[in-house]
Amino acid sequence: MSSTPTVLVVDDEKQNRELLTELLKDDCRVILAKNGKQALERAHELQPDLILLDVMMPEVDGHEVIQSLKTDDTTRHIPVIFVSALDSPDDEERGLDLGAVDYITKPFHPSIVRKRVRNHLQSVHHRHLLENLAMIDSLTEIANRRRYDESLEKEWRRCARMNVPLSLAIIDVDHFKAYNDHLGHASGDRVLRAIALALNSFVRRAGDLAARYGGEEFVLLLPDTNAAAASTLADEIRIAIEQLGLPHPASQLSQVVTISLGGITTCPQGGQVDPQFFLEADAALYAAKAAGRNRTFWRYAELKQAIEIGQ
Ligand code: GH3
Ligand code: MG
Ligand code: MG
Repeated sequence: MSSTPTVLVVDDEKQNRELLTELLKDDCRVILAKNGKQALERAHELQPDLILLDVMMPEVDGHEVIQSLKTDDTTRHIPVIFVSALDSPDDEERGLDLGAVDYITKPFHPSIVRKRVRNHLQSVHHRHLLENLAMIDSLTEIANRRRYDESLEKEWRRCARMNVPLSLAIIDVDHFKAYNDHLGHASGDRVLRAIALALNSFVRRAGDLAARYGGEEFVLLLPDTNAAAASTLADEIRIAIEQLGLPHPASQLSQVVTISLGGITTCPQGGQVDPQFFLEADAALYAAKAAGRNRTFWRYAELKQAIEIGQ
């Protein structure tokens, strides 16, 4: 959640929309919808942090809106508060059963609405903090495997929709077992942190992601980046790590710590990540290792056949 949360207010009566906007505008950015259809569109597109939803509206009513929101993967996490003139316990129970986090009856007390909204925004904020924490690798403090998995699914779908390429690099430290054996695990950990920091400095565009995949392997996900641009960037990373000049006294290859990279670029098709995507990058990495390490191999694939274009 950005520093100013966004609240979507849905009400078919202009007066109510104005009243609620006035009430909430100091605590959040208020966006409005005047019917159920518009509410669903705005929720989808703008991903508000909280929705205040009227129940009685012509055509698509509040109950139908919450049902649609809760069956859609992209909106089911958004908390909904019903604000309704239906004030019987049965109405309230129905609203909560449908998945609302709270139920406010009209006519409402302005200060109570403001405080309830504040409380719910606080919970949203805490949930986001925890979610973010669960996505960070504790050793290197960059994104972890879970965050990568989530981003990959999201970016795969986005690139498929926009008909643009998606690139992935897998990065593996060369002769790292020997490094640990020679200098100890704590020194190895420091190397992983230094690599993560350097890698993260190459993440410049929204949607790009550097993550620790596990052990001494990292991944770099580059949406809307073609094979030429991605392989060039990958090789710049390889050089940057070499230039960190971290001594590796146990390597037969170099005096300093080096990495090998394997990459893949494809044009995603459909909503499901093709498992071959990662496997192709892994195969390129394997080829880079076999060819002598400290190098970048890249593939472009329609995911039927791969063409090696690596350096
Ligand atoms: P290659 O050049 O073929 O990649 O050789 P390698 O020795 O790096 O490969 P191998 O997969 O045999 O060894 C990986 C090593 O990475 C083994 C393990 O000790 C080390 N490693 C994995 N995770 C960590 C970690 O969290 N901290 C430290 N210090 N070492 C780790
Ligand atoms: Mg490895
Ligand atoms: Mg290795």
